[in-house]
Amino acid sequence: MKVAFLGLGHMGLPMAKNLAAAGHEVVGFDVFPAAVEAAREAGLGVAQSGPDAVRQVAGDTGAVVITMFQTGAQVIAAYRGTDGTDGLLGAATSGTLFIDSSTIAVDEARAAHALAEAVGHRSIDAPVSGGVVGAENATLAFMVGGSDADFATAQPLLEAMGRRIVHCGGAGLGQAAKVCNNMILAVSQIAVAEAFVLGERLGLSHQALFDVASNASGQCWALTTNCPVPGPVPTSPANRDYQPGFAGSLMSKDLGLAEQAIDLTGVGARMGLLAREIYKEFADGAGAGQDFSGIINTIRAESTPA
Ligand code: NAD
Repeated sequence: MKVAFLGLGHMGLPMAKNLAAAGHEVVGFDVFPAAVEAAREAGLGVAQSGPDAVRQVAGDTGAVVITMFQTGAQVIAAYRGTDGTDGLLGAATSGTLFIDSSTIAVDEARAAHALAEAVGHRSIDAPVSGGVVGAENATLAFMVGGSDADFATAQPLLEAMGRRIVHCGGAGLGQAAKVCNNMILAVSQIAVAEAFVLGERLGLSHQALFDVASNASGQCWALTTNCPVPGPVPTSPANRDYQPGFAGSLMSKDLGLAEQAIDLTGVGARMGLLAREIYKEFADGAGAGQDFSGIINTIRAESTPA
């Protein structure tokens, strides 16, 4: 397939490379010139602008446009075009499939779908989890929102970049799944960290608590993969001074999107909103640059002296 890939950052560039490695013809663009240069060096086709990349693949039945930006505002601005400049939607041949893999708010994803549909295009939201390592190794998980037909068209491309592809429902429901999953993760990582600090104060060794909880009802990913103390899980970020992993700043961003969804729906999500507050403080302060499991050090710092 011919693919215009816009947004060649930490995630986008390795994803675009995997599409090319699977035999798709990729034309990339990023507003950051060094990212375009890196794509050129990797042997990808490059364009002068986003709409230029779209035009280079347009005309071909089945052309696809993938966006991998930071925010929903960037996606909507690029779809529409800004200050009278051409947008991605306007540059595409009618019926082009737009895949947005950026992590953005559910309502922003629905707005992007509506913009694409209004001018006769097809679209899916397809955010990912798995981080840069998953992007490089083509082992990402994709959570997809959109129609059955558009999901089916996208599937071979998503399979070239990922390992687990779940069609979650209609427009925006890929983003909904991502935000709900990450809210579970944030709350459970805080709960596990609090339990370890409480155990320390009670004289319980890290290993003993791990051996019990990992085989009991406290079992969860935050404990058995991302264990916030060094030792029990040698590969967890706690063993390398909390280098990410999954950066606290990204968790804070995702919880901001969860908060938007909570406000939109009126759900009484006290734990989710508290986790949002805790991770915002963490990412803006002591935890800047750290894996989100480093929250355990904040909990220790906030405990009364032993
Ligand atoms: P990044 O900042 O490295 O890359 C985004 C790129 O988009 C930048 O290079 C930027 O210049 C480019 N861009 C912005 N507007 C553009 C436009 N109009 N045209 C062309 N390029 C444009 O971010 P990232 O780490 O690659 O993350 C991308 C998305 O994936 C984010 O929404 C993030 O939340 C999500 N995500 C990231 C990770 C991760 O581990 N990094 C994991 C899961 C999901």
